[in-house]
Amino acid sequence: MTNGFIGGIHPDYKKTLTADKPIEKLSYEKDEIVSVPLSQHIGAPAQELVKKKEQVLCGQKIGASKGFISTNIHSSVTGEVVSIGNLNSPLTGKVKGINIKISNPEDSPKQIDTGKKFQDLILEAGIVGMGGATFPTHVKLSPPKKIDTLIINGAECEPFLTCDYRLMIESTEEIIKGAKIIQDELKIEKLIIAVEDNKPEAIKAFNKYIHGFNFEVKALPTVYPQGGEKQLILSVLGRIVPEGKLPLEVGVIVHNVATCKALYDAVENGLPLTERAVTVTGAVKEPKNLLVKIGTPVSKLIDACGGYVGEPEKIVIGGPMMGFSANTTDMPVSKATSGVIVFRKEDLPSLKMTNCIRCGRCVSACPMGLVPAIMEQFAISELYERLLDWHVLNCIECGCCSYVCPARRPLVGYFKTGKRQVMNIVKERENK
Ligand code: SF4
Ligand code: SF4
Repeated sequence: MTNGFIGGIHPDYKKTLTADKPIEKLSYEKDEIVSVPLSQHIGAPAQELVKKKEQVLCGQKIGASKGFISTNIHSSVTGEVVSIGNLNSPLTGKVKGINIKISNPEDSPKQIDTGKKFQDLILEAGIVGMGGATFPTHVKLSPPKKIDTLIINGAECEPFLTCDYRLMIESTEEIIKGAKIIQDELKIEKLIIAVEDNKPEAIKAFNKYIHGFNFEVKALPTVYPQGGEKQLILSVLGRIVPEGKLPLEVGVIVHNVATCKALYDAVENGLPLTERAVTVTGAVKEPKNLLVKIGTPVSKLIDACGGYVGEPEKIVIGGPMMGFSANTTDMPVSKATSGVIVFRKEDLPSLKMTNCIRCGRCVSACPMGLVPAIMEQFAISELYERLLDWHVLNCIECGCCSYVCPARRPLVGYFKTGKRQVMNIVKERENK
């Protein structure tokens, strides 16, 4: 069996640390503080709707979508707004957010109006892509072209993470119903749920519902980054998304399993997105999958897992391949936080960088067919026009090239910054 796409890697998956741990609901005390960021998605941050000292209810809208690519933010607790200020963020360093002191820890979310048009309801509920991309879901559900296939992404190909896996086992029916809602609303012919073959229990769970719901389950080879949208579409349908284009260009939309569950909760139960499952693992005493309120400090998640084992050297928010290093645990969980992974010094590979030996491993590993070794030279020399010619904008920042490089070249880091420069060149050209 082939991957369906070229390249990719087989890292040590380390999923057994938490794969058998059911999602555990984190408990909260009166007077604890949650810090809800106003920017938890790609696009414009939400506009705050509350003031200091104001009382808010769990599920109340506290940030309003501002612009086309933006969505709403809700309070995950009932309590008092104690301050509005800057919060730590793994992605951007600092983001504006709302600090709320909990008055009633048991309160469940206030319902949203479910009588609205489908896309408006999803916007109202503040749902974003929960696989890490955090693209506002209502925008993705308004495709300007005919879509023939909906793929539900259950690959969860990042090492260590198992929160989607647990969700697939524990909330199978809700995920399928969420997917069916999308299929029916957008009149999509075909629904395929794609899962990597290292998750047989999840595949079995979905297969139980096949007859009642009419969809296909596709088991995919376990290879990173199988869950990348372009890789998934190629593996499942054999369709190639053209450079710079979205999946809808080839008649496909892809939604993550957790997004489908959130969508089901919004449409069927009127629940805004105020909590998510997070895998907390690595060098902690008891690795777990936790259901946590958005805005909960990462330090509370680590405490809930019994604290550190040894001396933490690096904490990653998200998966180890595409996540972000955090320099503090005084940072809130956001809608994007799929994992908190603690590494000790001894868990990390030596990062001593040496010269490129032109071994070509990065070229073989790149799932986008790029030539990282050459691109790196252009990035270092700031030859951004050349970097554009070598298709850096097609880089999905998966990190496969850096992972396999025997010279420990930080290739993906160069491409992340290089892409920003190249985007400026593209914009300048468009404005001419
Ligand atoms: S980070 Fe970019 S260049 Fe490196 S392997 Fe992934 S897609 Fe290719
Ligand atoms: S993997 Fe590293 S050493 Fe090998 S060609 Fe690529 S950049 Fe050079």
